[in-house]
Amino acid sequence: MPDTRTTPTETKVAKSEEQWRRELTPMQYAVLREKATERPFSGEYEHEHRPGTYVCAGCGNTLFESDAKFDSGCGWPSFTEPAVESHVDEETDTSNGMIRTEVLCAKCSGHLGHVFPDGPAPTGLRYCINSAALKLKPR
Ligand SMILES: [Zn+2]
Repeated sequence: MPDTRTTPTETKVAKSEEQWRRELTPMQYAVLREKATERPFSGEYEHEHRPGTYVCAGCGNTLFESDAKFDSGCGWPSFTEPAVESHVDEETDTSNGMIRTEVLCAKCSGHLGHVFPDGPAPTGLRYCINSAALKLKPR
């Protein structure tokens, strides 16, 4: 019997690394579970312009709307804001000698990318997200 007292957020997706490895492609696993970054200009959604909703490749959580997507020229899909604020978590990331803000899926804790304060108005934010962490559901 699962002990529900210790899981206050019951909507969280918790799987073993073994399960994730089975369900994700090697690239998705590397990004979502090992915080890898795909090579710039290599992801399938960088130049995607179809309208739709981007969901988490790991758990299907709604992450970004195509309306918030813009061409940043940085080599990764970029968004000005998440579709639902509570669907993404942000954490300070000091790896690689930089101070950045990491963006994670709030549901499965998968690594998505980083958010930078150099985006266009109105938010001024640039959510720089790995294509491998996303799945587009075209409208
Ligand atoms: Zn997720």
